[in-house]
Amino acid sequence: MHIETDIKLDFRDVLIRPKRSVLTSRSEANIERTFRFLHAGTEWTGFPLIASNMDTIGTFEMAAALSKVKAMVALHKYYPAEHLVDFFRSEASRNAFFTVGSSSADWEKLAAVKAEVAVPMISIDVANGYTEQFLDAVARLRSENPKAVIMAGTVVTAEMTEALILAGADIVRIGIGSGSVCTTRDLTGVGFPQLSAVIECADAAHGLKGQVCSDGGCVVPGDIVKAIGGGADFVMLGGMLAGHTECAGEVVHELVDGQQISKMVFYGMSSETAMKKYHGGVANYRAAEGKTVTVPFRGEVRETLTTIAGGLRSAMTYIGAENLKEVTKRTTFVLVTAQRNTVYG
Ligand code: 5GP
Repeated sequence: MHIETDIKLDFRDVLIRPKRSVLTSRSEANIERTFRFLHAGTEWTGFPLIASNMDTIGTFEMAAALSKVKAMVALHKYYPAEHLVDFFRSEASRNAFFTVGSSSADWEKLAAVKAEVAVPMISIDVANGYTEQFLDAVARLRSENPKAVIMAGTVVTAEMTEALILAGADIVRIGIGSGSVCTTRDLTGVGFPQLSAVIECADAAHGLKGQVCSDGGCVVPGDIVKAIGGGADFVMLGGMLAGHTECAGEVVHELVDGQQISKMVFYGMSSETAMKKYHGGVANYRAAEGKTVTVPFRGEVRETLTTIAGGLRSAMTYIGAENLKEVTKRTTFVLVTAQRNTVYG
């Protein structure tokens, strides 16, 4: 047994110190960034937010909406091949990842789609990125897709970030137990405070010229700024994008004290809800590692994206960063003992 005694931080444990700035207006802050991908060799320019591949969030509709602001979507893996072929022929697919899991059906679907249309970006997604099989799967994906941008995860430590990049990942997804509807930390005791995971893994990835995507734990726009400040190249969002028109699911209207309240259901991909939907129930050798919640319905995602972009631009004027790369360089975190606990929305 071993105990690490240095402090590990979540987003809520820090604030960002303001610094002298020459930016006179938020419009001078550039929130688009160009990346060159290590293995794929291609370039991508845009607003580096990625909608999570959860089945309520990673939808074609979300892809179309996010594409308008040059942000990305990791599509969920439950669309049939024919629909994916049509989608990958459309303009919005330039900012979308095809998602594969570990099942042979997922890989067969990827092969079927690729037989019809180019799939330039692929996300390989498992809850636990620490297995040898996962490294082998990433290596196989790379050898079968030499020119595709490959995102792989999730992990939370430097050595596994390096291993995934060396196996062929361009982007490593960082976060275990950090998601808003994830119960892994409660059920297993395993996890890592998200900001420290990002700081550690970004350093490892950048040393090899790879990139990281901070996945999970952002509940307010300031958390996205903190993730980028900690070194995240991309930030993946689930809960912050839940409850919008572009999400899958029904909007339920209720009368509470004479007032109409509109809500949507949002659940973890390892929740009982998701396992019943896709696997007929929770297998008896495992337990659900996600929960099901209702979130307020918030209309079109466009406004939420405007708020996020506004928060980011404002932060950049506070710290004097003209572009996203400078956000990391200009960030000094201040440790705080207690912070107001706000919930976005
Ligand atoms: P959020 O932005 O909602 O805080 O986090 C989204 C992330 O939570 C997803 O991208 C995914 O990595 C993770 N996630 C989604 N569903 C589950 C689940 O059921 N269990 C666990 N452990 N993580 C989940």
